[in-house]
Amino acid sequence: MTIYELDHELFRSSFRAFAERELAPHVPEWERAGIMDRSAYLEAGRHGFIGMAIPEAFGGGGVKDFRFNAVLNEEVARLNLGGGGLGMMLHNDITTPYFIEYCTDEQRARWLPGIASGELITAIAMTEPGTGSDLQSIATTAVRDGDEWVVNGAKTFITNGINSDLVVVACRTGNPNDGNDSMSLLVIERGMPGFERGRNLDKIGQHSADTAELFFSDVRVPATNVLGEIGNAFKYLSFNLAQERLSIGLYGVAAARAALDWTIEYVKERTAFGKPISSFQNTKFVLAEIATEIDVTQPFINQCVVKLNAGELSPADAAKSKLWGSELQKRTTDRCLQLFGGYGYMTEYSIGPAYADARISTIYGGTSEIMKTIISKDVLA
Ligand SMILES: Cc1cc2nc3c(=O)[nH]c(=O)nc-3n(C[C@H](O)[C@H](O)[C@H](O)COP(=O)(O)OP(=O)(O)OC[C@H]3O[C@@H](n4cnc5c(N)ncnc54)[C@H](O)[C@@H]3O)c2cc1C
Repeated sequence: MTIYELDHELFRSSFRAFAERELAPHVPEWERAGIMDRSAYLEAGRHGFIGMAIPEAFGGGGVKDFRFNAVLNEEVARLNLGGGGLGMMLHNDITTPYFIEYCTDEQRARWLPGIASGELITAIAMTEPGTGSDLQSIATTAVRDGDEWVVNGAKTFITNGINSDLVVVACRTGNPNDGNDSMSLLVIERGMPGFERGRNLDKIGQHSADTAELFFSDVRVPATNVLGEIGNAFKYLSFNLAQERLSIGLYGVAAARAALDWTIEYVKERTAFGKPISSFQNTKFVLAEIATEIDVTQPFINQCVVKLNAGELSPADAAKSKLWGSELQKRTTDRCLQLFGGYGYMTEYSIGPAYADARISTIYGGTSEIMKTIISKDVLA
């Protein structure tokens, strides 16, 4: 059963045409450059594919309905936009909600129009060289000095790290012994003195998503750039991580479906021992298992999207969607690649890059092990 209505399908057709025309032809060049061209954000913004949930008064679509984000994720997976898609989805699905929910009126007026138009690219910086899964141990500090906060520290593996203009940075603003209450979110802007970016990191996949280290050395951030209340970062992160995790899980299922479709086409054409690869029992069984896994997973993901829209998606269900969707993506791209034989290992077929791109999905947004920790707390509660 579909969760989509006519508006979503019209949005899908229009994004598909746009992405085939404006994004897909540039993917090879972005993959080689290790970064997506900023102009793609502006084009996407101009066509209404960025900031759908941002109020119309600030140039957004004015519709808070995650099904539109889900449609974009499905199409990005189908077209295998890889890292380019990741940067844009991060901007739409993961960082924009922080700006919509926690900005003051003054901040909304200052930032939302640029976020909706694609002029201001966003990033979120939680992970540090010394800590990723254990978010409570972050060491980046922000110390109040008059009307400013002075930030020192470093972040790593930050998606859109090079392209971003606004970075939501998780900082320690209080005594570490106060635990979660001592963390806050500050928006650090391109060009602030003391804010430096490291090199664009080399990765095994998602090449066109720029991933970088960020360094903060006595960066003086105006108090007007604090996002929400001081000391509330953990509350905000916990709330927004549900949407981030669903986005990754949902993308995982869409990527698995895309891999299955490419593989079905390939095994019907390729022959061995005088027969199509599709005629071997192993091929049939592998495809049957994958199709079953995808079809059994999709209703759960759909249900999570509906719950998210209703404000009822629990951290445990979000974690389940991320755990299952990302693991499904990983094993499906691997099994499909096997059916391509040597051609699967070549970058000219979609399956090879999709396999490499998939590997990160069980790690970022919280590893599969951390998802199990969250789910087990719910199970044992
Ligand atoms: C391409 C890419 C993009 C990223 N984008 C961003 C971004 O935009 N913003 C951002 O803030 N971060 C980003 N990250 C960071 C990502 O979220 C972290 O890498 C991830 O959370 C894991 O943290 P870690 O790398 O420090 O691994 P670690 O925390 O060191 O974990 C290492 C291993 O130990 C396991 N482990 C840790 N704790 C436990 C436990 N309690 N129980 C069982 N096992 C455990 C982990 O599951 C993992 O297998 C990105 C990473 C990559 C590679």
